[in-house]
Amino acid sequence: MDAVVLLGAPGSGKGTQTGKLCDDFGFHRVSTGDIIRAEIRDGTLLGKSFAQYQATGMLVPDDTVCEMVFSNLSRIDGRGLVFDGFPRTLLQAHRLERFFVERDLRGFIFLFDVTFENIENRIVNRVSCPGCNSVFNSRVDGVEIGAACPRCGTRIAVRQDDTIEVLRHRYDIFRREVDPILEFYGDKVHVIAGNRPADDVYLDITEQMNLSALDSRNS
Ligand code: AMP
Repeated sequence: MDAVVLLGAPGSGKGTQTGKLCDDFGFHRVSTGDIIRAEIRDGTLLGKSFAQYQATGMLVPDDTVCEMVFSNLSRIDGRGLVFDGFPRTLLQAHRLERFFVERDLRGFIFLFDVTFENIENRIVNRVSCPGCNSVFNSRVDGVEIGAACPRCGTRIAVRQDDTIEVLRHRYDIFRREVDPILEFYGDKVHVIAGNRPADDVYLDITEQMNLSALDSRNS
């Protein structure tokens, strides 16, 4: 089974590409940000402890995130897994690698290369669906806050942490944490120019993985 790891700054396109891989090829989505937001929304005990991290852009402690990720992965079947927003620290990368070895997973590691200016633009216009976790650009996709999600009908919202101030903080944290992760993965990392239309980025990913339209579950 394949496992895809998407590394990149906030707003670099990880969520969008994850959605495409899941829709087209039946990958199972492992998005730590989505899991964390769901806990906060549901008001669970864990969610209450996450709220401050999420609001300020700080990372949730490694042990908690790893426990959340791996406890949900015991019964995974299907075409494979896409990790969106995990790992975010070297320790998380080590834990994930151990999981890949134990499960005999073939890992594809992608880094979306974008500048701060690229993501600033995207975050300012980013809206998302709290129901199905789809992400839209309000200017490009014409999806406005409060409108019904084109995919599931839930009311479209803006993430609390999608402000320039919090973005700066999240970006600094990303820059600080990513280098050791890249060093750890070494030449397994495929660097993808991220500041392009989503379909072009997607083509690069599927080509690198040798996925073709013929493999698609919709074909
Ligand atoms: P995201 O939706 O991936 O941008 O994540 C939103 C927020 O959730 C982050 O700013 C962190 O507070 C938290 N978070 C998501 N993934 C992780 C992770 N792998 N490790 C620690 N915190 C995380």
